[in-house]
Amino acid sequence: MSDCLFCKIVSGEIPAKVVYEDEHCLGFDDINPQAPVHVLVIPRKHVVSLSDADAADAELLGRLCLACAAVAAQKGIAEDGYRVVTNKGEKAGQSVFHLHLHVLGGRRMAWPPG
Ligand code: 5GP
Ligand code: ZN
Repeated sequence: MSDCLFCKIVSGEIPAKVVYEDEHCLGFDDINPQAPVHVLVIPRKHVVSLSDADAADAELLGRLCLACAAVAAQKGIAEDGYRVVTNKGEKAGQSVFHLHLHVLGGRRMAWPPG
């Protein structure tokens, strides 16, 4: 989508510190990290949120999860533990309306999240 921030990162129009890429997914450092490791994993394809994905996106959603695990391994947080989160909708804290999974780690995580 032409006015979508993360589509512009996919196209290279807006720079990002890319740490993972494959044919379908991109992972890059969050600009405002909430943990020592904070990577956003997104589909190259514009999907607004988890609730906007459908059965045809099942493989893509699996690939996104595997990309998160690859990022965690690459960043050295897989052993200690990490969290994967997606926010759907304004009330949950979604501020960019292109599906993204947050991969957070490198510190102890509180539960429940705020
Ligand atoms: P949300 O609030 O939608 O769950 O997460 C959006 C995330 O995108 C936030 O953690 C925010 O810091 C990050 N973000 C917003 N704009 C940019 C940007 O231009 N570049 C990068 N790398 N991250 C961004
Ligand atoms: Zn987009």
